[in-house]
Amino acid sequence: MLKHFYILLFLLLPLSLAAQQRILIHAGTLIDGRSKQAQKEVTLVVEGNRIVEIRKGYSQAGSGEQLIDLREHTVMPGLIDMHVHLESQTSKDSYSEKFRLNEAEMALRAAQYARTTLMAGFTTVRDLGGSGVNISLRNAIAQGWADGPRIFTAGKSIATTGGHADPTNGVNRQLMGNPGPEQGVINSPEEARKAVRQAYKNGSDLIKITATGGVLSVAKDGSGPQFTPEELTAIIETAKDYGMHVAAHAHGKEGMKRAVLAGVTTIEHGTYMDEEVMQLMIQRGTYLVPTLTAGRTVADSAKVKGYYPDVVTPKALAIGPKIQDTFTQAYKKGVKIVYGTDAGVFVHGYNAKEFALMVQGGMPPMEAIQAATLVPARILGMEDRLGSIEKGKLADIVAVRGNPLQDIGVMEHVSFVMKDGKIYKRP
Ligand SMILES: [Zn+2]
Repeated sequence: MLKHFYILLFLLLPLSLAAQQRILIHAGTLIDGRSKQAQKEVTLVVEGNRIVEIRKGYSQAGSGEQLIDLREHTVMPGLIDMHVHLESQTSKDSYSEKFRLNEAEMALRAAQYARTTLMAGFTTVRDLGGSGVNISLRNAIAQGWADGPRIFTAGKSIATTGGHADPTNGVNRQLMGNPGPEQGVINSPEEARKAVRQAYKNGSDLIKITATGGVLSVAKDGSGPQFTPEELTAIIETAKDYGMHVAAHAHGKEGMKRAVLAGVTTIEHGTYMDEEVMQLMIQRGTYLVPTLTAGRTVADSAKVKGYYPDVVTPKALAIGPKIQDTFTQAYKKGVKIVYGTDAGVFVHGYNAKEFALMVQGGMPPMEAIQAATLVPARILGMEDRLGSIEKGKLADIVAVRGNPLQDIGVMEHVSFVMKDGKIYKRP
């Protein structure tokens, strides 16, 4: 008995010492995610996985305290991308993957994409749809089996038959089958409820729907509505019952309007949004997730002959370039904006390119940074733990050399990454 007690003591001793290890960060400039002004010369104190103190000036490290010198850097809260797809990444061969890759291969590859995303400074992401491997990836990262951002995932997107995110679009009729609510394909309010409950059971944190056609699906229409108002209401009501919010992919006006009226939390892309939809979104407090990087990338890729299937190319050429104009108009009108890129539609790790595009589109750099920190933390219900550098919050901290308020491009070169108090990258 006594022997066991001593063994236990030996095991616990280093753990308790490690928990007390304090890290001091000297921040030349601090953007805390909440205040409109940056602060100069600040010391952040991290203990375990929390920010425990923020001091004015540079304080000396005491014994047992580790010092990180970021005096030439701008220090910020860990960045949050509200629209990624960690299971996949665009390539000429993307469309045949589902016939070639097993789930284990998808998972191991997704783990690499997750790591790349974390190293780019994104310590939290919202995964808006894959096969469901993204749920296992979230769990694996949370367990420490893989390095990656904290993931909030929709699992598999909910679509209608033949709609954007019907998993058997474009395959031959023998393979097409008839996917139903268990596979995230619905055709009535009843099936909509079933699909949401199934997603909850599978472990989804939120619901993603494809309210209109989409660019990359093997289908002609990229913007028409794909759900009835009754189906949308059933989805949103059921999701609410389970504490989940709903994100709606939408390019065309009618589908977008129905989704906003039914009460979705975010509109993804929003390409053909007009004045009426903008006003509705303002009234209802609906956020726009711009995905400007994806818009630009699909338009560029579509110019490469044979990159996309023939049915996709004209949609990519039409929708891609429109997204940035829409963002500018929506922002000027006062639609709430939250940061999201659609990474996976372009190469993972370039999530920070969106900042420069938002600033080009008329948003001041400080607002763009808040759209990628405190604003998404609120939507994810994590405002008490994430999104700002404040006492008591989780130690998700990143830094870039230079000052993004003067040159937003520096956001693309994150040189320090801490997530949950653990350092993943240092200058
Ligand atoms: Zn997407």
